Amino acid sequence: MAVEQTLSIIKPDATRRNLTGAINKVIEEAGLRIVAQKRLRLSRLQASTFYAVHKERPFFGELVETMVSEPVVIQVLQGENAIAKYRDVMGATNPENAAAGTIRKLFALNIGENSVHGSDSAENAANEVRFFFSGMEIVG
Ligand code: ADP
Ligand code: MG
Repeated sequence: MAVEQTLSIIKPDATRRNLTGAINKVIEEAGLRIVAQKRLRLSRLQASTFYAVHKERPFFGELVETMVSEPVVIQVLQGENAIAKYRDVMGATNPENAAAGTIRKLFALNIGENSVHGSDSAENAANEVRFFFSGMEIVG
């Protein structure tokens, strides 16, 4: 296994409910290290560019509106096997299917407002980290 970096977003449904710390506790207790962090309001252009892969899906408009509705906390997580590990820590997209102890099982409201994003492949992780952070903002 290699040390990897992956992109995490704490989504508006979670920042609205003051869950940033609770979610980061789960992340850190899983052995993932937060090596970059910023809190911001996404613009519609940023949200729709970030989720462009989903632009033909019926939920795309709702997804963009949800992502711009409140601040998000965007982080780079680092650790052994971090990309797959964080997907495990997040749980299934639909919280009804998420395993016990996962972030989405603990905190998500529904499939759309599911509290967190995590990169799903090495290629997407590299692109997503680069979308939000410059090298000097990532401090291991
Ligand atoms: P994941 O976030 O688990 O990688 P996807 O990449 O498939 O899931 O979808 C991106 C995001 O789009 C999801 O996290 C969720 O917020 C939203 N989404 C996915 N499927 C649906 C759906 N059927 N209805 C509403 N929103 C959805
Ligand atoms: Mg995805």
